[in-house]
Amino acid sequence: MRNYYIAGNWKMHKTRAEAAALAQALVAQLKDGKHKYLVAPSFTALETVAAIVKGSNILLGAQNMAAEEQGAHTGEVSVLQLKDLGVHTVILGHSERRHTYKEDDGLINKKVQLALQHGLEVILCVGELLSEREAGKAEAVCETQTVQGLAGVAAADFSRVTIAYEPVWAIGTGRTATPEDADAIHAYIRQVIARLYGADAAQQILIQYGGSVKPDNAAQLMAKENIDGALVGGAALKADTFVPIATFQ
Ligand code: PEP
Repeated sequence: MRNYYIAGNWKMHKTRAEAAALAQALVAQLKDGKHKYLVAPSFTALETVAAIVKGSNILLGAQNMAAEEQGAHTGEVSVLQLKDLGVHTVILGHSERRHTYKEDDGLINKKVQLALQHGLEVILCVGELLSEREAGKAEAVCETQTVQGLAGVAAADFSRVTIAYEPVWAIGTGRTATPEDADAIHAYIRQVIARLYGADAAQQILIQYGGSVKPDNAAQLMAKENIDGALVGGAALKADTFVPIATFQ
């Protein structure tokens, strides 16, 4: 039986004071929650939120990370700096990084390997564009992003990887994949993992769904056999909408 894992990606929102208020509300309201929880504030609020979630059942995540350990990389944030702030997990390959900031599978793979080498957990996001879905390529796109994103990752490190299936056409659009469609892609990703890491690893890996998850659709999505949680964007910005998702039964 796999655990459920609910993560909130706060994207480029919230000042430190706003982030602190949300983190405090979540610590209080999720303290009896049964699932695995993570919040990923902006870099600027990581230190503030780290102090609030410390000792709670909410893990601290970063939304991105540089592909190099340190050096002349103006504007980037390194794995060493994230660890120094108490970051536990880094979200990599988010569709906004892939499509707006043109990160390719090779770059994302470098980041995945570096994060794992340094002991972090990784949420690797994969997902197809609407045009790719309409062309019948959703499975192939997710397979490529999964295989290339995990290239060179040893089985021992793979246990620290979560995959988030996030169809790009469902992110921030209010359009959600049907639970059946999402489950079919999750099952397909699990098959890909079985090929790469064996049947046990495929049964154990947590695969989150992301894309307009809201309080009123979360339970139906997570009722599906292969959907092990959610990566939540818009609805993660308020305790009123994140807590009902995070405490779904
Ligand atoms: C996301 O950006 O990871 C996401 C799923 O956003 P939203 O929930 O707003 O669609």
